[in-house]
Amino acid sequence: MNAPPPVAGGAGAQPQTSGLAIASMVLGIASIVMCLGPLAGIPAVILGHKANSDIRKSGGAIQGGGMATAGLVTGYLSIFMIALWGMMAAVAVPNFVKARKAAQAQQCKANLNIIQDAKQAWAKEDAKSDDAVPFDAELFGPGKNLPEKPQCPAGGTYMVNSVKEEPSCTMHGTISGGRR
Ligand SMILES: [Zn+2]
Repeated sequence: MNAPPPVAGGAGAQPQTSGLAIASMVLGIASIVMCLGPLAGIPAVILGHKANSDIRKSGGAIQGGGMATAGLVTGYLSIFMIALWGMMAAVAVPNFVKARKAAQAQQCKANLNIIQDAKQAWAKEDAKSDDAVPFDAELFGPGKNLPEKPQCPAGGTYMVNSVKEEPSCTMHGTISGGRR
């Protein structure tokens, strides 16, 4: 800053604009516009308070109260916004993770149902016993009941299991129950 240092109000002296007030306003605006947040917002608030105090004490020799106020408002706003963002993230992120997990589990159950249907069709066509376990190649692939084996969206591995059992996922368990 090349603004002159604040001097106590000499009579007849040209009123000076507080360099601190300018700095506060610049930092305050930067904290909002450039998304610097508290990084610029906290100095803006500190400089704004200091500038206001200097301006008050100077008895008119130093001006820039409006700019100091602008720096304070934008500085506090940026701090408040970060706090708000933090609170929103604290609420939203776990909910997002939960919703994503629920959606994956649902998709997985749908896949298990498809596998189950393919296995039942296979058992019926070939009159398999209840204990028969189809190979993947007997259910999945070109010309089979399913052109390809469904994949668990959460990265689990599917066990087709025997005819009398439900297929299962290593991550999500069976269609009707939880993890085995
Ligand atoms: Zn799964």
